[in-house]
Amino acid sequence: MSARIDLHCHSTASDGTLTPAQLVRAGAAAGLTVMAITDHDTTGGWAEAEAARPTGLTLVRGAELSCIWHGAPGWPIALHLLAYLFDPAEPVLAGKLARLRENRARRGERIVDNLRADGVPISWDEVAGYAAGGSVGRPHIAQALIRAGLVATTAEAFASEWLGARYLVPKEDLDVFDALRGIRAAGGVAVFAHPRASKRGRVVSDELIEALADEGLFGLEADHEDHSPAERAQIRALAERLGLAVTGSSDFHGTHKTVALGAFLTAPETFEKLVSAATGVPVLG
Ligand code: AMP
Ligand code: FE
Ligand code: FE
Ligand code: ZN
Repeated sequence: MSARIDLHCHSTASDGTLTPAQLVRAGAAAGLTVMAITDHDTTGGWAEAEAARPTGLTLVRGAELSCIWHGAPGWPIALHLLAYLFDPAEPVLAGKLARLRENRARRGERIVDNLRADGVPISWDEVAGYAAGGSVGRPHIAQALIRAGLVATTAEAFASEWLGARYLVPKEDLDVFDALRGIRAAGGVAVFAHPRASKRGRVVSDELIEALADEGLFGLEADHEDHSPAERAQIRALAERLGLAVTGSSDFHGTHKTVALGAFLTAPETFEKLVSAATGVPVLG
């Protein structure tokens, strides 16, 4: 069987729509040989994914950390670091993740308050119910806007008149260098998720990526639906210059997005290097 390796997938532990058990079964059904569970700011889906892992599917336990770069004066840039195979019991990193989740909840409540102040008939209880104990994000608020009949799809809810700008409250994310050191100290491997996804907002400079490489960044996610072919080529060239690995992955979110499991893949040699670089927890399978 040829390798099909998808290293970026979300479950209901954050803003995906499949439970961790459904996610690993869907991964196997989609013909994946390796899949990573990478929920936003949480390891809450790991145990269920592990218990439900189908024979023949290798499971990589990970998370996607919400980070911020303060390097551009007066205009911080948000970015995501994928963290793989770190020790979830390492207290410093676990504390950082817990604070990120608490901040997500407070910020979600503020967004709901702002919407309610403008007469939008949704409630924090409803949104928290959609998150069901996992990391709360804007896709859960989008669900309430769809239920209230104000938008038809999650993508529409991210338009600038809704959660994209007008009702956007920034999160208090982790300093990206602090996050990277935390991942490494917990035995994990860090990959910069969708680093050139310009449609999500401003993207960081090559200089920042170079500085992160100096601090032990493992790789850059190049093949991702939010990157154009030109952006993918730029990332590959930068990775080559800096000696970084290059990954590809779906960033699957169930029905919150249209992308399918396995839509983008990572090369087996890169996956083997990633596994060798980790000391936190083993791959399963
Ligand atoms: P948050 O983490 O609460 O700031 O919400 C950002 C999340 O919303 C991302 O991780 C994506 O999963 C999702 N998202 C962002 N933009 C879109 C979009 N245009 N359509 C659907 N989901 C989106
Ligand atoms: Fe997401
Ligand atoms: Fe992301
Ligand atoms: Zn993601």
